[in-house]
Amino acid sequence: MTEPSTPARAPGALASQGGAPVRATYLPVALPWIGEREKQLVLETLDSGWITTGPRAQELGRRVAELAGARHGLAVSSCTAAIHLGLLGLGLGPGDEVITSDYTFASTVNVITHTGARPVLADIEPETLCIDPKAIERALTPRTRAILTVDYGGQPCDYDAILALARARGIPVLADSAHALGGRWRGQPIGSLATVTAFSFYAIKNLTTGEGGAVVTDDEALMERMAMLSLHGMDRNAWKRYTSTGSWYYEVAAAGYKYNLSDILAAVGVGQLERFAGFQRRRAELADGYAARLAAVREVRLPRARAGAVHAWHLYPIALELERLTCDRARFIEELRAENIGTTVNFIPIHLHPYYRDTLGYAAGSFPAAEDAYPRAVTLPLYPRMSDRDLDDVCAAVRKVVTHFRR
Ligand SMILES: *Cc1c(COP(=O)(O)O)cnc(C)c1O
Repeated sequence: MTEPSTPARAPGALASQGGAPVRATYLPVALPWIGEREKQLVLETLDSGWITTGPRAQELGRRVAELAGARHGLAVSSCTAAIHLGLLGLGLGPGDEVITSDYTFASTVNVITHTGARPVLADIEPETLCIDPKAIERALTPRTRAILTVDYGGQPCDYDAILALARARGIPVLADSAHALGGRWRGQPIGSLATVTAFSFYAIKNLTTGEGGAVVTDDEALMERMAMLSLHGMDRNAWKRYTSTGSWYYEVAAAGYKYNLSDILAAVGVGQLERFAGFQRRRAELADGYAARLAAVREVRLPRARAGAVHAWHLYPIALELERLTCDRARFIEELRAENIGTTVNFIPIHLHPYYRDTLGYAAGSFPAAEDAYPRAVTLPLYPRMSDRDLDDVCAAVRKVVTHFRR
C-alpha cells in the first residue's frame, strides 16, 4: 500500500481547512412543514369568498384553546399582538411594572413598553434558561402589576413557584408561550396555567400560519376585551358585519388595534393542528436522539425537560463548555456552517440591547445566569421534517468540531 507523502485532506480535517464537510448540502436550523392538507384548506378558503377574519379564524382560536386547556381562544396576527392584547386586556399601563425574563425575544419586552408600563427584568434558572422564581421575588415592588413568563425553548417555567408568588400578591401571570404549544406542567397543558397565554404561529414555530398567533384564557370578560381591542375597538362580533346574520352597525369602545388573523392564514393553522400531535412526537424523538448521541461529549451541555414537565421542544439549545474548548462560540458556529450545519443563538439578553441598555439602565453583571448562558448558547437544528440521517450529521459535525478544538 502506498501512502501519499502529503495528504491534502487528512481524514476528519475541518471543512474550513479543506476537509470534506460532514454533509454535502446545508441543513437549516429550522424549517416549516406545510402539507397537502394545509394547501387544500387554503384553496378552499380562497374559493369561499371569505378571505379575511371569519369562520376559519374562529375555528383556529377555538381549537387552540381546546388543545391548550383554556375556555376561550382568539387567533390573532402574531404572538407579539397576543401578548400586547393580554397586557392591555388586564389594564396595564403607565405607572405599572411588569416583571419578565431577561432571556427572551425582544417582542416580549417591546409590548410591555408599548403599553407605557415599565419592564422589570429578572434573571433565569441556569439549568432551564426559564425565568427564575427567586429572581422574580427579588424584583417585586409595590408597583408590580403582572408577571410575564417565557417558556424558553418549549420548557415550561416553574409555575408552582411563580403562581404562588402571583397569588400572594393578587397579580396576574401572563405567559409568553411562543415556544410551548403542546407543553405541559404537572399534567396541565401550557395555556391552562397562567391568567392569559400567548402562542406564536410564526414561520418556524411548532405550529405555523406563516405569521400569526393566538391568545387563550379562562376569563370570559378578559377575552371580550382582548377581542374588542384586536379589531379597532369594535364589538366582538363586528367581523360578521358583512354576513347575512351580521349588522352594519357597530360601536367603537376603545382605540383598538388591527391584530386580526386572515382566514387564509387560519386555514394553514387548522391544517397544521390536524398534524400537530405527530409534529410534537417527532420533536421529542429528535431531542431524545440528540441526548443519546451527544451524552458522552463533555464539551457540550444538553437541555433536559424539568421534572414534572412535558417539554414542547421548540428549540434544542446546547451550552458550550468553553472551559474545555480552545474556540469561542462564534468560531464553533462558523465551523458548523462550513460543515453544512445551520445553527442560531436564542437569545441575546434584553439588557444588552442598546435600546434597553439606555432606557432601563441595567449594568453589565446584573443578570449573572443570563450573561453566563449567552456566550455559550448554540441552538441546533430541530424540526419534524428532520430525518435520522440529518440528526446523525448534526451530531457528527458537533463531535468533529469539538474534537478539533478540545483543550
Ligand atoms: C417568536 C417569539 C415571539 C414573537 O412571536 P411573533 O408571532 O413573531 O410575534 C415572542 N416571544 C418569543 C419568546 C418568541 O420566540
